[in-house]
Amino acid sequence: MTEGAGPRRIAALAGVLEQEGLDALLLTPLPNIRYLTGFSGSAGLLLVRPASAVLITDFRYAVQAPLEAPAVEVQIDPVSIWDRLGRVLGQRTVDRLGVESHVLTTRDAERLSRLTRAHVVATADVVERLRSAKDPEEVASIRAAASLAQDALAEVLPTVRAGDRELDVAARLEAALRIRGSEWHPFPTIVASGPRAALPHARTTARAIQPNELLLIDFGAQLNGYCSDLTRTVVVGRADDRQRTIHGLVQEAQLRARTQVRAQLTGREADSLARDVIAARGFGDAFGHSLGHGLGLEVHEAPRLSQTNELALPLHAVVTIEPGIYLPGWGGVRLEDDVYLGPSGPELLSDGRTELLELH
Ligand code: ZN
Ligand code: ZN
Repeated sequence: MTEGAGPRRIAALAGVLEQEGLDALLLTPLPNIRYLTGFSGSAGLLLVRPASAVLITDFRYAVQAPLEAPAVEVQIDPVSIWDRLGRVLGQRTVDRLGVESHVLTTRDAERLSRLTRAHVVATADVVERLRSAKDPEEVASIRAAASLAQDALAEVLPTVRAGDRELDVAARLEAALRIRGSEWHPFPTIVASGPRAALPHARTTARAIQPNELLLIDFGAQLNGYCSDLTRTVVVGRADDRQRTIHGLVQEAQLRARTQVRAQLTGREADSLARDVIAARGFGDAFGHSLGHGLGLEVHEAPRLSQTNELALPLHAVVTIEPGIYLPGWGGVRLEDDVYLGPSGPELLSDGRTELLELH
């Protein structure tokens, strides 16, 4: 478990319950449960009341759950965690029960309505908002996950040759990540070569990399549950002028954004730091996704650095900065680093080594 999980985070949430006039809040997403309790299992329900919390899980976690989540009461139900929730609710005075309207499925909402007579109140993103401001140990875990990912890439890049398949490169990189201690891959590793680099979320395929092609690699590591997320774009061979120009433009936009992004900028203002540079050179239409996203127990979490987000970026958020230019038929360049929005400005958690590497 991480040091911060447990009493301190649950106390912060209890404060929110009081403000919202709720007797209890039911949490179902596993990352929210892990954040609050430290429990990392694959099934569970967490009921938080102002002065106590109950984690309900199943037989598989009878040993693990109390070890990982010592600050909460753990109940194991070998048959149905939802039926157990009904009994737990019946034993406590809960008139107003908050649920997470953005994640509770219709099926679970119906199940809940059969289990309790409490008035069910919709909430949204209560825990996600807490999660968006990282404490020092969370930042340290993301920094370590970024360092691990960089080391794995540095080991694999010198082995990449024209003729390798995208899948070969992904396999070597994923092996290097695991051997270095990554708990899992936060998302399927993207290795996209040549024209396939124009697909921002390309699937890695059996395509063989051709000489002098761009190679876009988007990948990450996970440590203590926390994700890193990096993208580098290199040339397998010698770079031509167009590759250099497009890469240089993305690099300039990324550098501007990662050095000027700050807490309290809106998501839209942060996005514009990079977008304005790219648009001014006529490539605005080729940068068709948002600048970045929050990073933590999940690889995509709050806040969003996008043209549609008018909310201020929270202090202590960790975000990605990942502008790109994608030209169908030609290829694409994306450069992604991870940045902590601290009180004195942005702090780079990854190495920021975005120079154009020529592998030959
Ligand atoms: Zn990425
Ligand atoms: Zn990303």
